[in-house]
Amino acid sequence: MEFDYDLFVIGGGSGGVRAARIAAGTHGARVGLAEEYRMGGTCVIRGCVPKKLMVFASSFPTAMADAQAYGWQVTVGALDWSAFRAKLDSELDRLEMAYRGGLSSAGVEVHDCRATVVDAHTVHLAGGKTVRAKHILVAVGGRPFVPQFPGSEHVLTSNDIFKLDALPASVLIVGGGYIACEFACILAGLGVKVTQFQRSARILKEFDEEAVDLVAEDMKAQGIDLHCGVVVSGIEPEGDGFRVTCMDGRTDVFGKVIYATGRVPNTDGLGLEAAGVALGRGGKVPVDGWSQTTVPSIYAVGDVTDRIQLTPVAIREGHAFADTVFGADPRQPDHDLVASAVFTTPELATVGLTEDAARAQGPVEVYVSSFKPMRSAFAGRADRVLMKLVVCKDTRRVLGCHIVAPEAGEMIQMVAIAMKMGATKEDFDRTCAVHPTMAEELVTMRKPVRTA
Ligand SMILES: Cc1cc2nc3c(=O)[nH]c(=O)nc-3n(C[C@H](O)[C@H](O)[C@H](O)COP(=O)(O)OP(=O)(O)OC[C@H]3O[C@@H](n4cnc5c(N)ncnc54)[C@H](O)[C@@H]3O)c2cc1C
Repeated sequence: MEFDYDLFVIGGGSGGVRAARIAAGTHGARVGLAEEYRMGGTCVIRGCVPKKLMVFASSFPTAMADAQAYGWQVTVGALDWSAFRAKLDSELDRLEMAYRGGLSSAGVEVHDCRATVVDAHTVHLAGGKTVRAKHILVAVGGRPFVPQFPGSEHVLTSNDIFKLDALPASVLIVGGGYIACEFACILAGLGVKVTQFQRSARILKEFDEEAVDLVAEDMKAQGIDLHCGVVVSGIEPEGDGFRVTCMDGRTDVFGKVIYATGRVPNTDGLGLEAAGVALGRGGKVPVDGWSQTTVPSIYAVGDVTDRIQLTPVAIREGHAFADTVFGADPRQPDHDLVASAVFTTPELATVGLTEDAARAQGPVEVYVSSFKPMRSAFAGRADRVLMKLVVCKDTRRVLGCHIVAPEAGEMIQMVAIAMKMGATKEDFDRTCAVHPTMAEELVTMRKPVRTA
């Protein structure tokens, strides 16, 4: 059978781009890729990268207040949002070009259009062309989910934040996941009055409760008006903003309302079911350990699958797929002990099991150190950091590490290596501290605060 390509990739995000580049550039496959929006996908265009730049932008008022407390004569002016936006836009343009350059030098043929699956080997490109490929990789990612309710058409999502013409004076953020909490801290840091409503009893539900409690405390201390157990029932325009009414009768007006209430896979109208691919809950694509769907020639990686939704995970899934199908290195992506960070202020970083999850598996020892870090304590700030290790009582292995601190994401990367190597509490203990740092607490916690 004649094929136009060995591989056709649908989606130019983290997973799709890596798979295409490795299949073509490293393994010599004939690869086509379709992207309907901008090359680089969510991470580069409307996720990790612009968000982290906004985290940096939002950190300066505190840094300058600290500088004053240390004796520097500085005055904090206002943020020029349009200057920041222009710089952000040009950085994203640069990154998009770099992604395109990488694909082109690997020999990947790029189609700037939407693609849909016709059958096990056929892809339809918007504009009319149809191509045939020996293998198809679905790497279409996801998009923000907004529930339908009266006035839901007025809300913004994370996609819109990077495109705001001006910062509102006040904002309501609805949601309690990492994206909601990160934007609450970012916007508060940029000087916006932030209110946050979360439907359930706590924010950041999948993270360690003790660590999250400290993050929530710090968010409130920054002036974020955080309320759990609140459900919005309706939104209507009022003046320059929007009146929001909740199930419990509370009502208030906000400049903008942002929903960060989860994400759904981009599988609507993609043609997968007609091609025989079984879809899972909410339209996600279930795959086996090789990223293969129920149709042998169709694979899927990244956020569209029912696995971990993080950029480095999508990249590894794409890479492993390309090596397996086109190289001499068949291997499955490893989803065990994936470290991650929530870029709130302060950051929450985690690897391994929460205390509750570890307890459910067997007896544990829990080591916690919570203290005022030197840098901000000297500046007169009251914020605290937290270092926490959850240790298996029988094997002594560190099962979970949770850090709430500035730059916690940088610290957890190193802890993840040790945990991946099977480090025990005693391995941590015999590692000499780096002094004076916050992270030295990770190797100096002598007595468990709890055992069970
Ligand atoms: C606000 C935000 C912050 C985030 N922060 C982090 C973070 O700090 N760290 C982290 O690890 N992860 C973060 N993520 C998650 C991360 O962005 C995703 O896990 C990652 O981008 C997934 O990569 P992907 O390749 O699966 O999909 P995407 O990157 O979403 O790429 C999919 C691409 O497919 C295209 N597409 C969709 N349908 C079609 C079609 N039919 N035809 C052609 N093209 C199509 C889309 O336009 C898109 O470009 C964040 C996400 C968001 C939204």
